[in-house]
Amino acid sequence: MTHLRLRIATALSAKGLATGGREAPRMAPRTKSVAASLSAAQDGLDAHSADGTNWAARRTALLQMDAALRGRHSRKWKRAVGVHYQRQMHKALDEIASVRVDRGVRIWRMYNMGFVVKSPRAIIGFDIHPGWVFRTPMTAAQQRRLTGLLDAAFVSHWHPDHLSRGILGQMHAAGKTLVLSSTFAMELRGDNVIRMRNTGGAPAKVAGLDVWCYPGWQFRLARNNIYVVHMGDMLVMHQGDNTLRSPYAAIARRHSIDVLLANCWANPAQCVKDLKPKLLITAHEHEFRHVVRSHFWCSFSELDKMGVAPPWAPGVTQARILSWGEQTRWP
Ligand SMILES: [Zn+2]
Ligand SMILES: [Zn+2]
Repeated sequence: MTHLRLRIATALSAKGLATGGREAPRMAPRTKSVAASLSAAQDGLDAHSADGTNWAARRTALLQMDAALRGRHSRKWKRAVGVHYQRQMHKALDEIASVRVDRGVRIWRMYNMGFVVKSPRAIIGFDIHPGWVFRTPMTAAQQRRLTGLLDAAFVSHWHPDHLSRGILGQMHAAGKTLVLSSTFAMELRGDNVIRMRNTGGAPAKVAGLDVWCYPGWQFRLARNNIYVVHMGDMLVMHQGDNTLRSPYAAIARRHSIDVLLANCWANPAQCVKDLKPKLLITAHEHEFRHVVRSHFWCSFSELDKMGVAPPWAPGVTQARILSWGEQTRWP
């Protein structure tokens, strides 16, 4: 695992992706408590919804969040970050349970590359993880609530920041559908466990939804499934940690992707260039166990390089950057 993490860190540093080629923002002023810095940043986000307007104000707030999360890992800092994380998960769970979706999709950012997508037909999760937020991941009650709400959970690859055996076990016990590749969590068996690698042209059925799976990898070290899910009237794609470029052109020939859930350091520019999704949402910022951590400013830097920023002309890819527990809708 250490070897793998070093390989990933080295690869990221070599590509300049982890830093986005820019200087990192400074830490929050020491005069402000961690909790106050986190809540000031969150207040800025709460006051400016992630609907594609408010770009400059959200950029400021997300960079404030970067600064608040770049603390010195003192006990006080860890506790404040954990409290903030659990509060944001609580808010997201309330919304997932209560928000009515009559058309399109509503998307919540959970931990790392974890997303919940709700459409009129189903609620699904991608790479759901309780959060490596020190000693304060999602509580057991929050995890039970989340697994109870989901119809199906998709896992891109076996890296432990993308799959949680606890969450998968709860989903499995509750008879919810799990979509996995054929190489991990082999202890999970049964009618509700669907293993995929390459569906080819014909979609598989998962919780009543059409699903395509395309094979990729992460730096040749781990197989990574790329999922395309038809949520009713929207096609949603989750990239996982895929770094293999070749699948994107093939996917683009077959699908017109509406929403791309993209890894901020796994060449999102190539992915967007090939797929031309209508909406791009970045992820993998602030994964705490990574040796080299990505930040929101890395994502902004990638978007700047792509020229993806408002005002949005009709037909061009729009983008959103979401912090823990935040949501957006499409269209
Ligand atoms: Zn990975
Ligand atoms: Zn990862």
